[in-house]
Amino acid sequence: MQGMGDHLRRARILCTVGPASREPATLRALVEAGADGLRVNFAHSSHEEAATVIGTIRDIARDTGRPLAVLADLQGPKVRVGNLQGSMPIHVDQTYRFVPEGHEVAEVPAESVIPTTYSGLALDLEPGARVLLDDGRLSFEVVRIDGDVVEARALAGGALAANKGINLPGVTVQTDFLTRKDRADLEFAESNHVDYVGLSFVQRAQDLRRAREAIGGEALIVAKIEKAQALVELEDIIRLSDGVMVARGDLGVELPFEDVPMVQKRIIRLGRELARPVITATQMLESMTGQPRPTRAEVSDVANTLLDGTDVVMLSAETAIGDYPVEAVQAMDRIIRRIEGSALLGIDRPGRMPAGERAQVQKSASGAISAAAVEAVERLGASCIVTLTRSGFTARVVASQRPPVPILAITDQWRTYNQLALVWGVQPLLYRGELSFEGMRDHAREEVRRLGLGSSGDRYVVTAGVPFHVAGTTNLMRIEQL
Ligand code: PEP
Repeated sequence: MQGMGDHLRRARILCTVGPASREPATLRALVEAGADGLRVNFAHSSHEEAATVIGTIRDIARDTGRPLAVLADLQGPKVRVGNLQGSMPIHVDQTYRFVPEGHEVAEVPAESVIPTTYSGLALDLEPGARVLLDDGRLSFEVVRIDGDVVEARALAGGALAANKGINLPGVTVQTDFLTRKDRADLEFAESNHVDYVGLSFVQRAQDLRRAREAIGGEALIVAKIEKAQALVELEDIIRLSDGVMVARGDLGVELPFEDVPMVQKRIIRLGRELARPVITATQMLESMTGQPRPTRAEVSDVANTLLDGTDVVMLSAETAIGDYPVEAVQAMDRIIRRIEGSALLGIDRPGRMPAGERAQVQKSASGAISAAAVEAVERLGASCIVTLTRSGFTARVVASQRPPVPILAITDQWRTYNQLALVWGVQPLLYRGELSFEGMRDHAREEVRRLGLGSSGDRYVVTAGVPFHVAGTTNLMRIEQL
């Protein structure tokens, strides 16, 4: 198993699958290079392509004996430019009309019409509002609303292509949170038993409640933070999710880009306090889409994200459409190992909270037991923590305490086994025996020995939530000796 032994990698790598990586041999190479999870982006993937990719990932997991998480990323209520014939020139200071696709506008020159996929744009915008296109490359100021047409003056011009994203900084988009497309993608994702569902453009805590009703109980929910509005109810949003993504691409268009680093720190910190794994995403090694080596600034960005305490670093274009997808994963793996092994800085557990602060959060039985487990490891020099878990909850809470030793998560659930592949420091193991505390404890002892995580006389700490079928109860800690 990857990561076992004296050089365990704690932070996890999530790779976006796309044309550059969906062939089975490349997917396998990504996993061999260190990918722990694969993201299928429904903004760009058909169901047919996604089904093939998910099938291949499951085959690789079986062949390699490794847990691999599949994250189905829903497009969400992203507003886009509609169909255009070729590219459309946008000239600074000229006025353009944003018109819902399919709506006719009389007496307006065709070259000033920008079709949009969202019919409510005129209701959500007011004169003075900014409209940003194509990752903020093109920008407009709204001058007039006329029925369902938005008239806007171009502030930054260039060539506009069809289907580019439209960002409306500071504007709450009043569209249904789960679009018709999202619901169809969700149904597909659930029938393919994905491990995580990513929710794009979350704006309010209410969006999470709606999504939870639609998703049911199996896949874990990752709230993607990419709208300024989401920051208002951030704590509730994270509490209502199972994981959170710092989606820096859209976030850096919706917010002034200089705000992103501190928002990233805030989200990572809250995620850790609430024991929700955090994925930090976008442009981490962007130059590797065209070069085999990252820039020094990118290496520093990844390193600082790890030092902020992220659970997962994500590759987007690098593995989806880049020329060097495998090299990008290898680079991530190298950076993580070096940062986590950095004796020079005395940093072996990025993201560990000082004891005083730890006591202020996770005021629950699970938080207390997990903190006690870490304390026991430190006092006794125990070699690892074993969590016996059905839902993965216990393992996630223990991981959020950033213990200095490996966390073995023993579970009888295939879904949990794969989900835990995206949690900091956790090595999931699948258990096939009888579901009892004694049975799992004995199995744990064998696994600790087999994996070389302790020898005769060494102590290790076991935590569990008993009875196992009740999720969310960590109520037991024992100190065992090999
Ligand atoms: C992002 O905007 O950073 C992001 C991860 O979103 P997307 O799904 O568009 O890649």
